[in-house]
Amino acid sequence: MTESTAHVIVGGGLAGAKAAETLRTEGYQGPLVLIGEETERPYERPPLSKGYLQGKEDREKIYVHPEEWYREHDVELRLGTAVTAIDPAAHRLTLSDGNSLDYAKLLLTTGASPRRLPVPGADLTGVHYLRTVQQSDQLRELFGSAQRLVVVGAGWIGLEVTAAARAAGVAVTVLEVLELPLLRVLGREVAQVFADLHRAHDVDLRFGVKVEAIEGDNGTVTGVRLADGTVIPADAVLIGIGAAPNTQLAEAAGLEVSDGILTNESLRSSNADIFAAGDVARAQHPLFGQAIRVEHWANALNQPQTAAKAMLGQEVAFDRVPYFYTDQYELGMEYLGYVEPDGYDKVVFRGDVKSLEFVAFWLKDGRVLAGMNVNIWDVTDPIRELIVSKRAVDPARLADTNVPLGEV
Ligand SMILES: Cc1cc2nc3c(=O)[nH]c(=O)nc-3n(C[C@H](O)[C@H](O)[C@H](O)COP(=O)(O)OP(=O)(O)OC[C@H]3O[C@@H](n4cnc5c(N)ncnc54)[C@H](O)[C@@H]3O)c2cc1C
Repeated sequence: MTESTAHVIVGGGLAGAKAAETLRTEGYQGPLVLIGEETERPYERPPLSKGYLQGKEDREKIYVHPEEWYREHDVELRLGTAVTAIDPAAHRLTLSDGNSLDYAKLLLTTGASPRRLPVPGADLTGVHYLRTVQQSDQLRELFGSAQRLVVVGAGWIGLEVTAAARAAGVAVTVLEVLELPLLRVLGREVAQVFADLHRAHDVDLRFGVKVEAIEGDNGTVTGVRLADGTVIPADAVLIGIGAAPNTQLAEAAGLEVSDGILTNESLRSSNADIFAAGDVARAQHPLFGQAIRVEHWANALNQPQTAAKAMLGQEVAFDRVPYFYTDQYELGMEYLGYVEPDGYDKVVFRGDVKSLEFVAFWLKDGRVLAGMNVNIWDVTDPIRELIVSKRAVDPARLADTNVPLGEV
């Protein structure tokens, strides 16, 4: 390794691009390479199931940086190239184009990939997943022709695509193995709000059902068969059953991995010269006292800034409270906090749930773990304060809209 050996970022998504930006703004002037398997320069994914999918947002808007930014900041962007192996001892990467590349410090921002549905027929034409801009383009095109869409999985992506499809006039059936949508992330009380919302928009929601096969004719999807034999006709199927972190490279290189690349608070992996950030990282979090993996936009935006500073030798820790947002029909919301499934003992609603203007709080032992503001804005600061301070609150005052949030 010489002075001219590059810092290398593997993964050309939001996290990779933000890390490159921070390395430069923090004064790193040496060679910098960003390697991405996709052929598009880094872009943001949230619009792919919202404004961009609905044709309301231009393609140019999704990119993290304008095309010339990479040249102007001397970031060598190698697109359409995958890293196929890491040799940590030699500080060397093997690339899919047959070349190798040495690194001084390495950042892995390889993101996550949609989980595949392991049933017969899942490879038929008309079965879709949503992670890339090309897949969003395909879905948007389909909204022009398909009459009946079946969505497998009532998670964030499934529900957002459902809302976009309804806006385009497509009939949608949602199939979910659990009893409510988003049950693991929101719990029963708040999950019900999303079930009511989609029913109000004429979505056929079916809970507690298991998909047995996707049926087709001449290689093209015609319906979805459930375990009880029911067949739901479909011109198209979207599978949204979650994502798995792209940890294969890290694992093969001998890094510590457990549903994500394990890192310390400064995003350093079990190898001193390799860091990880974004969807792929399971980082030790100072506030929660445990390692957590967050598959959200704000995490991919902010975590790489800490990782990049750590790569430059700065003493830093990533301690932000996880933040997430969604837009579905007339519901816009922000969610702050971290709650494990069944990790709370009380939900407090503040405001009017029926008219979709409220804040929901998840509490454990009288302390706020998370808050979700629905169609109420500019409240994330007091919500964050309630979470970070870990102070005990009176649920009656929390629910009372006459008590300012900052004074609960
Ligand atoms: C449709 C959709 C909607 C979403 N909506 C929201 C939302 O409303 N709110 C929210 O908070 N979050 C949302 N998210 C989640 C958010 O987009 C992700 O958290 C974010 O994209 C993670 O960024 P990342 O850079 O860590 O990973 P990714 O965006 O997955 O980027 C990783 C990149 O690395 C590349 N790569 C992988 N392996 C290699 C390799 N070996 N060599 C080279 N390149 C490699 C991949 O091809 C990919 O381009 C959404 C996600 C999707 C898919």
